[in-house]
Amino acid sequence: MRKSWFLAPLIGAVVISLGVLLSTATVADPKKAAEPPKYNIVIITADAMRADMLAANRESEVRTPHLDKLAEESVNFTRAYCNITTTTPSHATLFSSLYPFDHKAYSNTSRISSKITTLPEILKGHGWHTAGIVNLPWLNSDVSNIPQGIDEFQSCKKIRKADKTNKWVMKFLDSRKGKEQPFFLWVHYIDTHTPYYAPGEYERMYYPKDKDPRAGKSGSLQKAWKMFPKHHQNNPFIDKWLRGITDADYVVATTKGSVSWTDYNVGEMIARLKKNGQWQNTIFVFTSDHGESLGEHDLWFLHGGSFEVTARVPLIIKVPGGPQNKRIDELVSLVDIMPTLLTMLKIDVPAQARGRDFWTSMQGRKLSGGAVLVEHAGAYIISVVTPRYKYIRHRKTKDVYPSYPMKKGREELYDLEADPKELKNLIKEKPALAKELSKLLADLRSGKKKDFVGEKAKIDEQTEEMLRSLGYTQ
Ligand SMILES: [Zn+2]
Repeated sequence: MRKSWFLAPLIGAVVISLGVLLSTATVADPKKAAEPPKYNIVIITADAMRADMLAANRESEVRTPHLDKLAEESVNFTRAYCNITTTTPSHATLFSSLYPFDHKAYSNTSRISSKITTLPEILKGHGWHTAGIVNLPWLNSDVSNIPQGIDEFQSCKKIRKADKTNKWVMKFLDSRKGKEQPFFLWVHYIDTHTPYYAPGEYERMYYPKDKDPRAGKSGSLQKAWKMFPKHHQNNPFIDKWLRGITDADYVVATTKGSVSWTDYNVGEMIARLKKNGQWQNTIFVFTSDHGESLGEHDLWFLHGGSFEVTARVPLIIKVPGGPQNKRIDELVSLVDIMPTLLTMLKIDVPAQARGRDFWTSMQGRKLSGGAVLVEHAGAYIISVVTPRYKYIRHRKTKDVYPSYPMKKGREELYDLEADPKELKNLIKEKPALAKELSKLLADLRSGKKKDFVGEKAKIDEQTEEMLRSLGYTQ
């Protein structure tokens, strides 16, 4: 039988990856093989930052000079995806290389099993000092259990903005200065998540200084408000955040401002790594857990659905002695990060891992193709993205978003090349393609069954309040 043209590149990718790994192993200097590189690892997740906000991706007016400079010293993956568009599940995937249907975390009140092996746990076992700082309480150890394996952990009692987060980060970096033991550091920034934080000059960076965003009684935001999910409309916290504002463009402008502000803080962190002499020994990863809808498909200021704006994330990886100023347009996703980093460090990738090492592609060899899986909170919808198409299947009927009802059995198919805004559903026009993509989706979901059991996290009153304030509880 003819092999699926979607699967062929996938199989090819695996074969090439293995080939390169084997050839590296055979030609490697035996001394070097005995002493694998012990680089520091820094992973930044800028919550809800869209891939198209990154100036280095050439899709935006947003100024990100520090991230652009980082991209010049790194590999910039222009088509990186999250595997689920919700914070806790997405971070669980990033640090475990498991899909949501494996780790079972489908919401921000999920808790992953202690049986799951995480990246910090593995690194700790190989002698790394592990640290992390988060700024949403549901990422805390006692709630999500995601930070397992992190020794020096700054949990979130009260949300810290990027400058306060950096104060702790700078202290941490200074404390590791001159130490031989490598470190792992996870920094979670929250400023690009609602309510978008763009202080000082960043507030009006993308909005006319002389314009009043509160002028006019029935502005664009009032029209958008009707498209908000019900639990957003009745949310006093969201009401307080947007009270009096009538121009939706102003809110979008503050998102952009929050990106530039985050960029500034990333720049500070990199400067300190350089000053401390740590930069040349550090693998530096900048990414996000998901994107954000800013009015596309009439979805406003949330990360529902699996359209490109919410599914694509920025991904820049700097490796000591690695490729510089390189753009890779092939598909990768957060499930691939753990196998990729472990391969770079010549550490065995655990058998549980679903992702693939894309280090091969960073070294200039072509992986040609691939496909990624993207899910939605609550397992409401599941999608598969290929280099050209996206296929979405609705798995449950849920009336959450007025403009985007989820209906069990509904299918969507988009040609991302001809229709990058995903406006024309081709499901009726291309039934054979839809069938093939549906099969690909099933293939990607198959494989060894993971028997991890997820739990519902114990949420205290303060966390419950914060979940409500951001519109996560209905
Ligand atoms: Zn998030």
